[in-house]
Amino acid sequence: MSVAVAEKFDGTDGAEGEDISSSASERPSSDERVASERLCVGCRRTVPREELVRFAIADVAPYVVPDPQRKLGGRGASVHPTRECIQLAVKKGGFARAAKKSVTIDAAALWTSLARLYEQRSDSLLIAASRRNMLVIGTDAVREALRPSEKTGEVRIEVLVVASDAEGRREELEAGAARMGRRCCVIGTKNSLGRLFGRDEVGVLGILDSRIGDEVVRCAEIVSGLCGSRAGETDAKAAGRAVAE
Ligand SMILES: [Zn+2]
Repeated sequence: MSVAVAEKFDGTDGAEGEDISSSASERPSSDERVASERLCVGCRRTVPREELVRFAIADVAPYVVPDPQRKLGGRGASVHPTRECIQLAVKKGGFARAAKKSVTIDAAALWTSLARLYEQRSDSLLIAASRRNMLVIGTDAVREALRPSEKTGEVRIEVLVVASDAEGRREELEAGAARMGRRCCVIGTKNSLGRLFGRDEVGVLGILDSRIGDEVVRCAEIVSGLCGSRAGETDAKAAGRAVAE
């Protein structure tokens, strides 16, 4: 059974909106414009569409709504799913140009709601993996599934997921996964992972399906870029409310 990761957030279907800036001088000619590329209205680089997330533009507050699945119709603007580009799109007027009017947008609220969507996305992928028996849960099961098969030498786990507050065997398992060339990502907490599977706490998980694993890793990277400590706490305040003109 093929795994339905097809309904990916930035899959290739869905409404196009006016993703490219409406300013004629900045718009590449139709010949140059490649359908699979989009302008990030934050950093203003043109990149493959998959790298960007769409925001739909509404006529009423909050004016700009995350639309990662590109399902909301109407006008839209594409942005890298990072604090930096969302902030630039607010400050330098990328969203306002798409809205064709001056709008007040809370950048921090935007990236917070976007991060929540990606968290929900990775939660549903983990639940889907579990229903398809493509998930192993808990230290013992993960350790077992990280052991190379005697026949093939392959390990079953594609991606190791650890809760941000996991302790115990975490380091041993992370080292084991790295040794076998398997990726690791950090998602949620022991409590939040536990809730997905009706348990009190889950500290480690192993995803056995590579496509689900890829998508979970992508979601986790985006979430960490949007809320991680890397971006610091001060810029959340700085971006608090900026009037896009
Ligand atoms: Zn950008």
